[in-house]
This record gives sequence, structure tokens and C-alpha cells, in this order.
Amino acid sequence: MSMIKRQQLDKLNSYWKDNCECELKVTATQAVFGSGSAESEIVFIGEAPGKNEDLKGIPLVGAAGKFFDEMLSGIRYNREDVYVTNIVKYRPPNNRDPKPSEKLACNEWLINELKIISPKLIVFLGRHSMTKFFPTEKISDIHGKLLAINTPELGNMHFLPLYHPAAALYNGSMRETLTKDFNKISKTLKKIKSSLSLNT
Ligand code: URA
Repeated sequence: MSMIKRQQLDKLNSYWKDNCECELKVTATQAVFGSGSAESEIVFIGEAPGKNEDLKGIPLVGAAGKFFDEMLSGIRYNREDVYVTNIVKYRPPNNRDPKPSEKLACNEWLINELKIISPKLIVFLGRHSMTKFFPTEKISDIHGKLLAINTPELGNMHFLPLYHPAAALYNGSMRETLTKDFNKISKTLKKIKSSLSLNT
């Protein structure tokens, strides 16, 4: 029996909320689930919850999130139209970088989340999500470039790496680059969809 994607996500989150063995559970207020439309063709993957996200239980709601929302509205999307999640579901203390063990603890959760949504395009927000799929690349080399690979976990998938909005927020030139790259999203998605329809 097939459930709708939203119900599958709810079930996934309630399972992993109880069973995730991430050591950050001890210090975090709560798990921060992915949010937005389960039917979205685009999934954005950030790093880990910060202070605001940890308190509200919603990804990207602080200063970086506000900047993200501005860029989204620039390409005529609302937060409800897309899906946003993080590599790590619990806040690292003092917003330090997540450790490899913490990324690993949440990995199966993330992969199943992506399998349920089955997006046409995955957008990395920063290097932590990028290195999950492209461990040897540098974000400064591949930001704004569309990548298509056959991944062991998701099959054929398209990826667009972007700088992280938190990193770019107070850095004029990086902010300009991120906005420029972000504005490629709609065209990129159209391109992916037209190439997919040629193959079916
Ligand atoms: N908040 C999030 O939810 N993710 C990030 O990557 C940064 C801030």
C-alpha cells in the first residue's frame, strides 16, 4: 500500500526521533526535521541546526534563513513550495562544525528522507552537505555548477552546490556569488526536466 509522501515523512521522522543515536541529542533541545513541501522538486540541504532552529524545531529560521527566504522569493518561490533539511538533525553545541560521527548517525535518516521526496534537484547549502556526495570537491571550485551522478543511495541525481547563506551573509563578494548562483535554480530545474522527458 502506498502512503502519500507527507505521511511517509512523518513516519520516518517519528521513527528516527526515537532511534537516532546521534550524541548531539544530549545537548540539543529537540530534533529539527526537514520542512516544507514533501512534493517539492527541489530539496535544499544545509549543515546543522543553529540556536534559533534548535529552539523552534524548524530548519533555517535565523539570520541565514531570512537571507535564504529573500533569495527564494527572488526566484518566485515560497518556503512552503520547497523542502529544506540538514545533514545533521541536532544542534552542535555553540554551532561548532558537526563531527563525522554526528553526520554518520543521521545519514540513514537523511537518505530515506531524500528517497521519499525523490526530488529532481538537490541543492547543497555549503560544504558539509556537498562532501556527503562529493567528498573530494571544494565548494569554491564547484559552486553554481550543475552536477549529475549516479549515486549508490539515490540512483541518478542532479546536484547544485551553493555557498552556505550563513557564510555569505556578511561577506559582500560571497553574498553576490551566492545570489547569482541561486538565481540559476529555476533555469537549472527546467533544463533537468526537459532532459528527463527526452529520456522517457
Ligand atoms: N540553520 C540550519 O538549519 N541549517 C544550517 O545549515 C544553518 C543554520
